Amino acid sequence: MTQTPFTLTETTLPALEALLREWGQPAFRARQIHRHIYVKLATSFSEMSDLPLALRQKLEAEVAFSRLKLRETQLAHDGSCKKAAFVLGDGGVIETVLMYYRERSTACISTQAGCAMDCIFCATGKMGFLRNLKQSEMIEQVLWAARETREQAQPLTNLVFMGMGEPFANYEEWWATVERLHDPQGFNFGARRMTVSTAGLVPGIRRLAQETLPVNLSISLHASNDELRSELMPINRRYPIAEVIEAARDYAESTHRRVSFEYVLIKERNDSSQDAETLAILLNKQPFLCHVNLIPWNPIPGTSLKRADRQRVDNFQAILEQRKIACTVRVERGVGIAAACGQLAGKKV
Ligand code: SF4
Repeated sequence: MTQTPFTLTETTLPALEALLREWGQPAFRARQIHRHIYVKLATSFSEMSDLPLALRQKLEAEVAFSRLKLRETQLAHDGSCKKAAFVLGDGGVIETVLMYYRERSTACISTQAGCAMDCIFCATGKMGFLRNLKQSEMIEQVLWAARETREQAQPLTNLVFMGMGEPFANYEEWWATVERLHDPQGFNFGARRMTVSTAGLVPGIRRLAQETLPVNLSISLHASNDELRSELMPINRRYPIAEVIEAARDYAESTHRRVSFEYVLIKERNDSSQDAETLAILLNKQPFLCHVNLIPWNPIPGTSLKRADRQRVDNFQAILEQRKIACTVRVERGVGIAAACGQLAGKKV
């Protein structure tokens, strides 16, 4: 990968205009290039055939087209899910997952290489933390997904920042990415079609509530009492359940947007009737606009944890519904292709 300091996906339109001005080029050339990247989804300068050859050659020599190098992809046997592993300029590996549904397609984007949160059920957590991703590295994952969906003649409809890493631990770069993707002059992706998932970093939840773009919020809960949650997600020792729920309630009340709680069901760890009852009590104490997304856990190697039985998943859902808590069981995608977060990136090649 080139070590050129200037990378196309790292550059705003005004910065690109400034660069081209320095090169004696008219401003509209920058807009043409911008359009090639974010609208036509070009993969190289050579595809920008409406630019003069001399300019394309100068761009090739002085500007890096991308920061990510595709290492491999895996496609689920039923075609419902495609997973990509990308190598970063410094050798780290991240992954992006694309899920196809009947009328939509969703890309799951990584925000960090590795993760410091150390959740015990997560393959990424087991890798440890490498570094925060830059805007360009998040944007390029999205552009890859957009090209893939275009090939399937099914537009990319949703983005979830739910891949490797904790987005709120990389807040500035992540939010700059959201703004860039939303830019009507560029990728023009609606903020309401983007969702951020956090392990429960309370300052991040409170900060998101102040932002103007209406990005959706999803919080990984995975347990209904502090003892168990601290065991599953060590970050709970810093931000215990009551604080997380309070921040979520404040967020829902100030933004009038629904909060999703993710709950991974692990056999005989957090999937009992008692767990469901406690969760219902927690969320019903001072009800607010929220929804619980139950996710039967995707097993990963090197752990004794097991996936919850279907019967216990159904029972958990029934208890929440009886207590008037909106609740769904996530449709599974890519169980056969190392679908749990971090499994493909962590795979040795
Ligand atoms: S589940 Fe999310 S927050 Fe927890 S270790 Fe994995 S990537 Fe990090």
